[in-house]
Amino acid sequence: MRATTAFNKMLAIPGAHVTGVVFTPDGIVVDLGRRAKRLRCPCGWSTRAVYDRSRRSWRGLDLGTAKVFLRASIRRLMCRRCGRVRTEAVPWARPGARFTRDFEDVVAWLAQRMDKSAVTRLLRCSWEAVANIVTRVVAEQLDETRLRDLYRIGVDEVSYRKGHRYLTVVADHDRDGAVVWVGEGKSAATLGAFYEQLGEDGCAQVQAVSMDLGAAFKKATDAHAPTARQCVDPFHLIALANEAINKARRWAWNIERDKARHAAAQAGPKRRGRPPAGSPPPTRDQARWVKHTRWALLKDPEHLNASQLQVLHELRRSHSVLYRCWQLKEGLRDLYRLADPADAPEHLNCWPGPAAAGSPPSSPCPRPSGPTATGSSPPCSSAYPTPSSRASTQDPPDQPSRLRTPQRRRPHRDDLPLLRRTDHPATHTKVRRTAFKA
Ligand SMILES: [Zn+2]
Repeated sequence: MRATTAFNKMLAIPGAHVTGVVFTPDGIVVDLGRRAKRLRCPCGWSTRAVYDRSRRSWRGLDLGTAKVFLRASIRRLMCRRCGRVRTEAVPWARPGARFTRDFEDVVAWLAQRMDKSAVTRLLRCSWEAVANIVTRVVAEQLDETRLRDLYRIGVDEVSYRKGHRYLTVVADHDRDGAVVWVGEGKSAATLGAFYEQLGEDGCAQVQAVSMDLGAAFKKATDAHAPTARQCVDPFHLIALANEAINKARRWAWNIERDKARHAAAQAGPKRRGRPPAGSPPPTRDQARWVKHTRWALLKDPEHLNASQLQVLHELRRSHSVLYRCWQLKEGLRDLYRLADPADAPEHLNCWPGPAAAGSPPSSPCPRPSGPTATGSSPPCSSAYPTPSSRASTQDPPDQPSRLRTPQRRRPHRDDLPLLRRTDHPATHTKVRRTAFKA
């Protein structure tokens, strides 16, 4: 097989065929012949009149360790639609690019998954090239209609430059969380710019906005979309619950440590060497054990490993207050797993359960110091729009009538026998008593 035929089959360049292959120290240079006689402007207008010609190279995807360059004659045309001289569009590269479409698509895909330095080292190109490629690909792929038909959106910030700079990201819940807008900063003005771009009509049709518990996004939404229901993002709500659990765990850990110190002081100086025969076996370091219950309490029950399940099981058997905290947290998480959002108010009313009936332990379950405690943020019942609010706003056709809920499998009782959240009331009384005793 001739080299040109082999390269024709390997590269499969659209709209061109391989006329020659040259192996150079810098890489493989593949000469291309064009099939189309008409010149096509990037705007779409076409002509047969050639303004002038030159030769150009495009970097393609590597073959083995060798870089590949496509070389072809490229023409310019006088475009009547653009009113100026422009370089013709070629099928294998984007206008103005010095890289092939395949190469740019790979760079854009990698740029979403790794940092820029890694992309430049992997594909042997410069930082500027990666930035320009990403700009070109985004400009081509950006959906101009992305800001139309926004009904339920989510707003959050992401940090970059090691947490020193922020971006505000807006996602569309009705399109599987597709990102529809990004702006620099995390202030009310940043989100306000999004609402201004959305326009008055667009803001009026937004029914629900999920956000964190900060004041900035709330302020912008109050100002621009006052009719939209403001919902608490599950991530931030569960983060607050986890923070409260961590405080409870540290409280329990300190209690156990103080107990151990007290017992050690009473036992007198420690004996050195092997313990005498018949002495009781060494007891477990309870403070250390409580300290290491962290991940068993914080992780999603679906992702617990066997030893973490064992820890939860032990907390439940010992009627630990930490287990009750965990139950409360998981009860809160269940709010976002309800099949029918209309059940949310009832779930919230029942959520604290018997623990709220009595006085809750003061120190082990300190109230989170976040905005929920101050009452400046929307209440938890806003996690879902209430039936009345949904009924008041006309649901658009082809739109689901509910907010998207995480479609995750709830752990079955048979899978995790210790995940019993609806214990008998008598058990709760016992738990509380044990908690106060501790
Ligand atoms: Zn043109």
